[in-house]
Amino acid sequence: MTQHILVVEDEPSIAELIAVNLAHAGFEVERALQSDQALSMINRKAPSLIVLDWMLPGKPGIQFARELKSNEKTKAIPILMLTARGEEADKVAGLNAGADDYVTKPFSPNEFIARVKALLRRHTSEPDIDAPLIVGPLRLDQGGHRLIAVWPGFDPKAIALGPTYFKLLQFLMLNPERVHTRNQLLDGVWGNDKYIDERTIDVHIKRLREALQPSGCDRFVETVRGAGYRITKTPKEN
Ligand code: CA
Repeated sequence: MTQHILVVEDEPSIAELIAVNLAHAGFEVERALQSDQALSMINRKAPSLIVLDWMLPGKPGIQFARELKSNEKTKAIPILMLTARGEEADKVAGLNAGADDYVTKPFSPNEFIARVKALLRRHTSEPDIDAPLIVGPLRLDQGGHRLIAVWPGFDPKAIALGPTYFKLLQFLMLNPERVHTRNQLLDGVWGNDKYIDERTIDVHIKRLREALQPSGCDRFVETVRGAGYRITKTPKEN
C-alpha cells in the first residue's frame, strides 16, 4: 500500500524539493502551507507521517506538534520536524513537543528520505514480511510462503509445507529459542478455532518434524519436557 505523507512547509522551494524526493521514493505526497490547512487535511485523511517545519506563519510547528500529540485521533502519526536551527536545545524542545525525529536544514535528499523511511519502520505495526526468518539452516520467506533449508556446501533445498504447518513454524521462528506452551501455540496459530485441543498440537509438531526430516532440519524443533516447544539454532545432538 502506498504510504501517504503530509508536508507542512511554507517555503515553496523547500516544500517542492521534499515533495519531489518523496514522490520519487514512491510516497504519495500532500502539501500544506500552515497548520490550519494541515489540520483539515489530516482530518480528511490521516497521513502515514507528517513532515513539519518548525518556522511556519501563524502557529509555530512546535506548537502544532504538541497539539497533534495530545489529540487521541492524531497522536499515533509520526512527526518528522524540519528545523533550520542547529541548536541542541531547540532539537530537545522539538522532541519534547512530540516530534519523533528531526532533520536540520539544509539536508541532503538521500538523508531526508532515509530518515522518513526509518521513522515509518519504527511506527508501523505491520510485521516486516520482506525480511526472511532465519534459524539455523532454515530460511522462511514470510511474504512468499516459502521455506528453504540452506546447509553450507549444499544447494538450497525447498521444503514443502501445508499452510497450518507453515503458520506453526512461522510462529516458532518469530520467537526463536523461546519455549511456547501448547496453549500459547493454540492461541498464536489457531486463534479461536475451538476444534483444536492441546493434544492436537503434539500431532502437528510431529508432522512438522516429519516434513523437515528429509532436509535434516527436524531436530531444530525441540520438545521442552513439561513446558512445550521451541525452535533453536543450537539443537541438542541426538
Ligand atoms: Ca518555514
